[in-house]
Amino acid sequence: MSVAPTAQGRVLATLNEDGSRRWIRPKPSSGKWLIRRRAVAYGLIVLFLLLPHLRWGGKPWMLLDLPHREFTFFGTTFLPTDTLLLMLLFVSILIGIFLLTALFGRVWCGWGCPQTVWMEFLFRPLERLIEGGPNESRRLDRERQHFAPRRLLKYAVYAVLAAILGNTFLAYFVGTDQLRHWVTGSPLQHLTGFVVMAITTVAVFLDFTWFREQTCLVACPYGRWQSALLDRQSLIVAYDTGRGEPRGKGAGARPGLGDCVDCKACVNTCPTGIDIRDGLQMECIHCTQCADACDDIMVKVGKAPGLIRYSSQDALAGRPPRMLRVRTVLYPVAFTLFFGGFLLALATRSPADVTLLSGLGAPFTRENDGGVVNQVRIKITNRTGEDRQYTITYVDEPGARLIAPENPVRVAPGQTVTTTVFVVQPADRFDDGERHVRFRLTDGERFTREFPRRLLGPEE
Ligand code: SF4
Ligand code: SF4
Repeated sequence: MSVAPTAQGRVLATLNEDGSRRWIRPKPSSGKWLIRRRAVAYGLIVLFLLLPHLRWGGKPWMLLDLPHREFTFFGTTFLPTDTLLLMLLFVSILIGIFLLTALFGRVWCGWGCPQTVWMEFLFRPLERLIEGGPNESRRLDRERQHFAPRRLLKYAVYAVLAAILGNTFLAYFVGTDQLRHWVTGSPLQHLTGFVVMAITTVAVFLDFTWFREQTCLVACPYGRWQSALLDRQSLIVAYDTGRGEPRGKGAGARPGLGDCVDCKACVNTCPTGIDIRDGLQMECIHCTQCADACDDIMVKVGKAPGLIRYSSQDALAGRPPRMLRVRTVLYPVAFTLFFGGFLLALATRSPADVTLLSGLGAPFTRENDGGVVNQVRIKITNRTGEDRQYTITYVDEPGARLIAPENPVRVAPGQTVTTTVFVVQPADRFDDGERHVRFRLTDGERFTREFPRRLLGPEE
């Protein structure tokens, strides 16, 4: 039987040297950062659960309707034709993330990311409560008691939470009405919906039960970007090497030692299983748990807190802070340009999109009396939140007739309707076989616009 080679030292925080999974069971640390993070986390959890249910002008605050490629934010719906608007918005968000990271490091990871918030403030606390704490969890791991009653109870509670969380997550994509229909109806009536719900629930369950911190370490690209997004002035959670080293038991009592007593409280509390004393690492989600743990130790050994603290690489090296750096100037400028462009485009966005298309078949036909008939298709997208009736008129053309089987054209909010109209006019209106005309469309309130069109006719 082949034996897996062992790595020299630990390759990943969640892997043992023989390649087996190293389960992280962090010891909780209380302190000033935990109190603040907990308040933020509970606020975000409530917001996450409520957001899909909130309405703004009758529309959801947030709905990412992928099948129809429609996105609603704070009551404003972006349609597939809003490519420019969406591009400006997403580039603005991206630049905003770059700026936030340059200034405050991975504050999003430690304070706002749903993976951290749910894992550290719901799933792990429940695990500690049900399994009896990190030591008990480790014992169950060691003895491979994967189906011990306490662990099974934990899985059951996790499954219920995963169903709630998964369904709430789905509500962001399908809306609460659709979700309610799926939840209350028989699975046989909406098999696709049921399968989507089941897959989402299982994915959430596996994420928080099995994959856990590996989402941050392996799957999330943001941690890998940070080396490019941070600079030496960015805010990070850092160990003060100058103050802490050389570390050792009895530091403070034994001359020549730094303040770190090598108690490993910072390591034992780390939810990604790393040692912050090794320097800035991709695995560090800047959650401040090690800062709380170390402050507690410092107080106990009679030293000033802050051996692990929010700082920057330059500050730790004794260099002064510099707010004006290339990226802290360029990012805000770029953000202002893109977000300003987005707001401008949004404010001047037309309440309807109208496209005139050629008729199907021949470019024109002749009537018995010699009149020329042109077919024009008119595609109307209603961008407003209400039903609209669009009246079509043929502008300034005495002697011409407009035949519109459906006029006005009713278009539901966010929907697109294509209607066909016919223009009948004498042949002598055409010069060299063509005539430039205009159609007017109005909804009688917010939208009135004329659209030019070139019609083809006989070259007589
Ligand atoms: S908690 Fe503080 S004192 Fe203890 S090992 Fe970590 S850095 Fe050193
Ligand atoms: S090193 Fe500290 S800040 Fe970084 S993830 Fe671990 S506990 Fe959180």
